[in-house]
Amino acid sequence: MARYTGPLCRLCRAEQKKLFLKGDRCKSDKCAINKKRTMPGRDPKARTGKRSDYGIQLREKQRLKRTYGMLEKQFRLFFERALRMPGITGENLVGLLERRLDNVIFRMHFAVNRNQSRQIVQHGHVLVNGRTVNIPSYLVKAGDEIEIKESSKKMNIIKDALKEVAKSGHYPWISVDVDALKGTFISVPHRNDVTDLADIKEQLVVELYSK
Ligand code: SF4
Repeated sequence: MARYTGPLCRLCRAEQKKLFLKGDRCKSDKCAINKKRTMPGRDPKARTGKRSDYGIQLREKQRLKRTYGMLEKQFRLFFERALRMPGITGENLVGLLERRLDNVIFRMHFAVNRNQSRQIVQHGHVLVNGRTVNIPSYLVKAGDEIEIKESSKKMNIIKDALKEVAKSGHYPWISVDVDALKGTFISVPHRNDVTDLADIKEQLVVELYSK
């Protein structure tokens, strides 16, 4: 599946919000948003005026999509799947995004960002219920056991990423054994549990795609 390969900080600058697409750098003074860098483009000031409803909805969709490192086509497919599920579409969408295997690996702190976790999955370092899964968008189910392959457990990028555990803590819907490099996806999180998306209004994404 295709993915965005350009500069990541540019995506944050476009939204003028932190999307936390890198590791430690996002929390440091080097972050482009902390440095108050302007929007990308030749005339950024031209795009800072009052936004239309459509513009607001579009930006919210872009933020959510980019946070999970997805391109439009796949993100739209996720939305359509969320639409067919019972319940509130926006909450279903967040639940589906959280079930992505690359996201789960990131939440388990086996990668510093979702780009890196996608690579770990694609390179075949991850087992789900004992079987290799190399599809980053694979949807994990409640009760699934996820682990790093025995032969991959010494990888430096995983060891480095695990240093984040102390800073970020665990997510209540995933249990992790950091020594064994494995864990269980306990359940799909409730929307309110996903606190790092607290300021994202997924309802605006639903409104945009429902036009
Ligand atoms: Fe975004 Fe992280 Fe770059 Fe800051 S350092 S602009 S949060 S990707």
